[in-house]
Amino acid sequence: MIKIQRIAAPAELTPQVVADKTALYIADPTKSVWKEPYIEQRLIAMTHGKCCYCECELGKESNYMEVEHFHHKDKYKNEVVIWDNLLPACRSCNGNKGAHDTITDPIVNPTVDDPKVHLGFRAFRYKWKTGVGKETVVSLDLNDTEKRCKPRFSVCNELVSKVEDFLEAIQSVTPVSRTQEKNRMRNKVRELLEACQCDREYTAMKATTIVNNEDYTSLVLEMKTRGLWTQDLDDLDAKMRSYALDML
Ligand SMILES: [Zn+2]
Repeated sequence: MIKIQRIAAPAELTPQVVADKTALYIADPTKSVWKEPYIEQRLIAMTHGKCCYCECELGKESNYMEVEHFHHKDKYKNEVVIWDNLLPACRSCNGNKGAHDTITDPIVNPTVDDPKVHLGFRAFRYKWKTGVGKETVVSLDLNDTEKRCKPRFSVCNELVSKVEDFLEAIQSVTPVSRTQEKNRMRNKVRELLEACQCDREYTAMKATTIVNNEDYTSLVLEMKTRGLWTQDLDDLDAKMRSYALDML
């Protein structure tokens, strides 16, 4: 989970539309008044197509996108189409959270709270630093082995394997190596860092894994020694570090 910058509400969601939809929902709670392509598309744009909680890619495999009401719509009907209450979530997160009352038992709202304050990782599992963090992990069931941990492990393991390969490959890059060879190395590392940015799935876990990986530290040193570490790589590295959670 990473901090998400909330973007402006869709233009179609005017105060009048909000009032009309809210009145309709209060009169008949079976009406899915939030189900509008303009709402869903704006929410998807806000998180780069990811679930706001578990960071899986929405629309991939069985990770269907659902409009999540942070304050549940059954109890807080007046917020059923309030933009700040809407988040994009996968079916698992939305389903696990169910009617959880986030007013009486708060969980991390990634558009408001910094997940780093409440959450960390250990062995591909979410750990908590605070009561809110624990409530988040438990109510969303973020450590389900099959649905959550295995996919996270798989993408992180792939990255770690690449780092190992790059660290070996860089040994053959010398000052007299061809420019093409140096560029190839730089491009590979750039792709690795791009995979750990906020527009990719499982950013927090990938960033945490790489910044704590000793081979990656060695790789950066080797790149610097050979004059291959450029400003754009440095910028990507810094951004990646900003998404990493603490290892607990
Ligand atoms: Zn999710």
